[in-house]
Parts: sequence; C-alpha cells; structure tokens
Amino acid sequence: MNASTIVIVGAGQAGALAAAELRQQGYAGRVVLIGEETHAPYERPPLSKDLLLQPQTARCAIHGEGYYAEHNIELKLGVAVTALDAQARVVVLANGESIAFDALLLATGARVRRLPMLDALGERVYTLRTLEDAQRLLPVLEPSKRVLLVGAGVIGLELASSAVDLGAQVTVIEQAPRAMARCAPPLLAGHLCNVHRARGVRLHLGSPLASAARENSELVLTLEDGTRITGDAVIYGIGVEPETTLAQAAGLRVDNGIAIDAQCRTSHMHIYAAGDAASQWDEASGRHQRRETWENANRQAQTAARAMLGVETEAWEAAWFWTDQCGLNIQFAGDMAAPEWLVRGSLEAPPCVLFGLDGEGALVGAITVNQGRDMRSAKALIGKRARIARETLADPAQNLRNLAREFA
Ligand SMILES: Cc1cc2nc3c(=O)[nH]c(=O)nc-3n(C[C@H](O)[C@H](O)[C@H](O)COP(=O)(O)OP(=O)(O)OC[C@H]3O[C@@H](n4cnc5c(N)ncnc54)[C@H](O)[C@@H]3O)c2cc1C
Repeated sequence: MNASTIVIVGAGQAGALAAAELRQQGYAGRVVLIGEETHAPYERPPLSKDLLLQPQTARCAIHGEGYYAEHNIELKLGVAVTALDAQARVVVLANGESIAFDALLLATGARVRRLPMLDALGERVYTLRTLEDAQRLLPVLEPSKRVLLVGAGVIGLELASSAVDLGAQVTVIEQAPRAMARCAPPLLAGHLCNVHRARGVRLHLGSPLASAARENSELVLTLEDGTRITGDAVIYGIGVEPETTLAQAAGLRVDNGIAIDAQCRTSHMHIYAAGDAASQWDEASGRHQRRETWENANRQAQTAARAMLGVETEAWEAAWFWTDQCGLNIQFAGDMAAPEWLVRGSLEAPPCVLFGLDGEGALVGAITVNQGRDMRSAKALIGKRARIARETLADPAQNLRNLAREFA
C-alpha cells in the first residue's frame, strides 16, 4: 500500500481528518486531497457562532498553515472532481486532470436544501454552509436589523442566538410544531424556545409559509394562517442534502447518502465514504443512518483511513454532538428519541443533565447543559445501557463518574 495513491474528494472536516489519519498511521504513499472550495480545510461549527460574534479573532482552520506540505499531503483547492470511473479507479477534475487511485474516500459533505419560494426573492436572502456564507451574514446581523429566520433546527436557533447578541430583531418561523424536532427531546426543545423568547426572539412554531414577497424595500413572509411578517433580510436553514452526485453517477449504492458499512466501505471495495455525505449501516436499527455532526465526520474519517490500511478501529461510543446558544453549551449523546426523560437539577437553573430511558428503563441518551464534564461518564453509562434507579439518576448529589465506574 505504501507505493500507492489514496485520493480524497472533499477537503472539509472528514477529508482533512482522513488525510491526517493516513499519515498518523504511517502511510507513506501518495495522498491527494481535493476540494472545490478555495480555502484550506476549515471547521464549520464556528460559522454560526464565534465567527459571527468575534469575526476578528475566531479561528476555524483544521490544521496550521504548513501542515499539508509538512505531511506531504497534496492539497488541490478550488477545483472540483467532476467524474469518477469506479471500474478504472480514476477521478477527473474540473481542470481536466485525471488521477488514478488505489483507494478513494468520498468526503463530499452536504449542500443546503433549497427553498425556491425564498430564493425567488433574490437579494437579501441567505443560507449558511460555507465561510463565504458566514461572511455575507456579518453586515446583515446588525443592531435593529429585522431578521427573519426560517427553520428552527440547530443552525436556525444558533443563528437566532448570535443575531440577538449582535443586536438584531429576530423572528423565527418553523413549520413543525416544535423546534429542533430531529435532534432534541420536546422537554429540552420547549425550554430552549422559552429561553429564546425571553431574549426577545419572536417564535412562530407550527407555521408553514404560504408565500414570500418583496414590497418596496421590505421582505414580507406570509404564514398559512394569514400572519404577515416583514423584515430586512431572510435567512433560512431547513436542512441539508448529502452530496452524492459523483457516487450516484459512478453506480455506487446510495440510500439517503452514500451507503457504507461499519468500516466506511461503499458498495465498491476500493471506495470509502465519510461524513455528512455518508449513510452508515446501523446494526441496532437495521438501516442506514446519516449523521450531520462534527464528531461523526471525524470518526468516520478515522475509520475509513484505517480500513484502507487494514488497521482496526476501536468500537464507537454513543454518537455525540453539541450546540452553543443563548450562553448555554448543550451536549447530546445517544438516542434523542428515548421515550422517557429525567432531569438531574433544573433546566431553569443550569448546570443540569437530562437522562433518556428506553421502555425497559435502560439509559440510552443523555444531554448536559453547561455540564460538559459529565458527558464522558454519561456516554460510558449509555454504552452499557445501564439500569440505574430513577431517584439516583435524578439526584445531583450522586457522582456520575462513580456510577460509571460501578458499571465499567
Ligand atoms: C453553520 C454550521 C454549524 C455547525 N455546528 C455544528 C456543531 O455545533 N456541532 C456539530 O456537531 N456539528 C456542527 N455542524 C456540522 C458539521 O460541521 C458537519 O457535520 C461537518 O462539517 C461535516 O463534515 P464533512 O467533511 O462531511 O463535510 P464538509 O465539512 O461540508 O466538507 C465537504 C467538502 O467537500 C467539498 N466537495 C463536495 N463535492 C466536491 C467535489 N465533487 N469535488 C471537490 N470537493 C467537493 C465541499 O465543497 C466541502 O468543502 C455545523 C455545520 C454548519 C454548516
């Protein structure tokens, strides 16, 4: 393998981490990392948070400036891969270059789901996925600007929080009856909505958009119940779609993302996929699952790189992600659809921890609010599907680390 070529398509979180892991594991062959964006690989989480709040000081590069050259990683930026011939094991770049590979990683991420009704408004309608998108938002999120945010998912609410911090007047419109419906239990989502409202955000939940119009210098959104909301700018975040164009055209299996196994291998034995673009076989649920989180991109990148080299990866802990909004650091692990949730402490007065139990009382999910130090123990307990008395779980006097030790 050391005289071979590994090509990575997509120079984002998963692509950069996979390249680094190959070198970390001692791979001495050629590594080519190709990205259509012009920036060296960067982290996206700061785009909705620090980069808006402290644009002068926020940093988001994944590796330092000299890293790629020092590690002999050929970084080709500002050029897309336009074709993949899986049989011949060749990728073709937009500049006409062809590169043959022994193994390939597709780390192509995801693209914003478009809402044509809003796009048709033209100027002053924004979405957020890239560094340029975030930079475009800076002059929009200003004191007294009326910002209409469509979508109350994680990114929508993080943007609402940052916009309020920057002095904007914020209205959030969500068609589902609750916020963060895909990733947080109703108890937490409801509480977060109250926190946003207390900070001045106007929230319209269960409110599908009926129409969007431009009236003189104002943007007007009309809800299905007839409510008209006017603003200076519209930002929408209604989810993303996995970038599977190359995989699909090459005949790889795609199932809400590029289908991969536990080793991140696609339906072609020399092609792997990782990150937002990939949907991984999940034994427990018996289906492919796609995760759009920073940790998932890192984990799958590491797994794929190691699998290419025949190196084993340790078993995964419970899936984890976080959000920062309204001064709260909220970390999530395990199953957010757990039917029962217990609170240790009080949501109204964080720090606190929420525990999710399945129908048999086993711990399957946990959420820490300004209490990240409990996350490691919570993940360990979820890994064991620990059964712990409800009174013990809910008692802040019980040390979670000691409980985790008991189940180790
Ligand atoms: C604003 C924002 C905030 C977030 N906050 C959090 C958070 O707080 N916590 C959390 O857990 N997660 C967060 N995430 C999610 C996290 O950033 C993503 O899950 C992660 O970036 C996925 O990494 P990836 O490598 O799969 O995709 P990406 O980072 O999107 O990288 C994919 C790259 O591939 C490139 N590409 C695509 N097709 C081609 C092609 N044909 N040729 C060449 N290049 C190509 C793209 O241009 C892109 O640069 C956030 C995401 C966003 C957008």
